[in-house]
Amino acid sequence: MSTNNNNTLTTPVPQRPSMCPRQLSSSSFASAFEVARTKLSELGVEEPDTDDDDNTLSPFSSSSGEEDDSDSSPYSPSVESDSSTSEAASPLHSPLTAPVTPASLDPDVADNFAFAFDIDGVLVRGGKPIPEAIEAMKVLNGENPFGIKVPYIFLTNGGGKFETERCRDLSRQLEIDVSPGQFICGHTPMREFANKYGTVLVVGGEGEKCREVAESYGFRDVITPGDIIKANAATAPFRALTESEIKNSRDLLARGGKMSDIVVEAVFVFADSRDWASDLQIMLDIAQSKGGRLETRSENFDEGPPIYFSHNDVLWSAAHEHVRLGMGALRKIVETVFEDVSGGRKLKTHAFGKPQVSTFEFATRLLQQWRATQHGLAESEPPETVYFVGDTPESDIKGTNAMNEKSKNEWYSILVKTGVYQAGTEPKHKPRKLVDTVLDAVNHGIRREMAKLGTRKDGKGRKLPLDDAALKAISEGRTPNFELSADPFAKAVEQQQVQ
Ligand SMILES: [Mg+2]
Repeated sequence: MSTNNNNTLTTPVPQRPSMCPRQLSSSSFASAFEVARTKLSELGVEEPDTDDDDNTLSPFSSSSGEEDDSDSSPYSPSVESDSSTSEAASPLHSPLTAPVTPASLDPDVADNFAFAFDIDGVLVRGGKPIPEAIEAMKVLNGENPFGIKVPYIFLTNGGGKFETERCRDLSRQLEIDVSPGQFICGHTPMREFANKYGTVLVVGGEGEKCREVAESYGFRDVITPGDIIKANAATAPFRALTESEIKNSRDLLARGGKMSDIVVEAVFVFADSRDWASDLQIMLDIAQSKGGRLETRSENFDEGPPIYFSHNDVLWSAAHEHVRLGMGALRKIVETVFEDVSGGRKLKTHAFGKPQVSTFEFATRLLQQWRATQHGLAESEPPETVYFVGDTPESDIKGTNAMNEKSKNEWYSILVKTGVYQAGTEPKHKPRKLVDTVLDAVNHGIRREMAKLGTRKDGKGRKLPLDDAALKAISEGRTPNFELSADPFAKAVEQQQVQ
């Protein structure tokens, strides 16, 4: 069993604190603290401790100012163009195609912070949930000492299925309802290109699935490597299509005319290739073609259509004890081999997904829409802090830190040890916080938020958690008990044990 090699997966699931009966939203929580602050001032308690405890809690220094390895940084379609792509790619505007219908305000929702999660290696590994992930979702859905619900979305570089199917899988794995309105996978942003290109080649995924996904996005003429091999088996000499592949692949010759009459305007790698050899051959054929015309060769190798990958992860965390090669590895191979076969000409391909800041901006818009449609919060307002929990420093942490640098609101990176990152090593891109599991990440974020709102120090520097007992004491004009535990979660567990 591969996951046994990971200590964090074999440790007992931490006991979850009992839910506090009080149901305060963070808004009402904030109001209560405003009252408390006044009373504390009257009681002679010092001003709030504004120190962020990140530096002491994190084994790493701040991530700000880290260098960007731009040699491998993928294309950002919203901000960048290049000589091999004559047409500027459109920005990523609208995560949801349906108009936003605000829900009525959820009184128990936290309005000033939210979570975003990577999936593989954080919540799921090898198709099975990481045990702490189920607990983490319960905490976010209100089973926490504060009784608040915290909005959250999922942002994965994976793909190859309809978003609705992936949400069903995740719902089953995490024992919650996951909506497409809170879900972005690697190829989700590609739907914004549906009206930009006519005929496109879609690569990757099982069977016909990615063609179906692309067509559901509005792409009008989607061909696959299987279609090309069916039309000319010599394209990939060692690849024999199965009976079902022959049946399901479309007949390009039935369009009339020659193969060279078909012009591929763009190539989209939607999901991981199931047959690297033939997919590599076909992508290189098109990259070397005359303007995307099938079975042609450019004289200068500079006429190929743009090639988009849904992400750039070279490695990912699957069921095997060691990380596996991902789409980013195929991308490197395509670019390297093109250089070899074209006499040294460079091929610049493009990648979506994390760590692209545009993907995080896309996620911000999705989160705003989700907060409005699910919780009744103002769509125009992003949360003050988004906690992003990931397992891959090169995509999750790098992207979150870059977004934090650029964004007006705070993006706070948390790295877990249940996936790509190996405990004990120093990650190339440093998180604000390193934890064992996603449950620790969620607890850390909630504690940090509540500490922002509630923790004060008395004259001796002892911390006072503004919990129920402290608030009650303050409201009655009594001096709160400063000997209480500074950790609201620990206190909740303590109370549970006493009962
Ligand atoms: Mg991951």
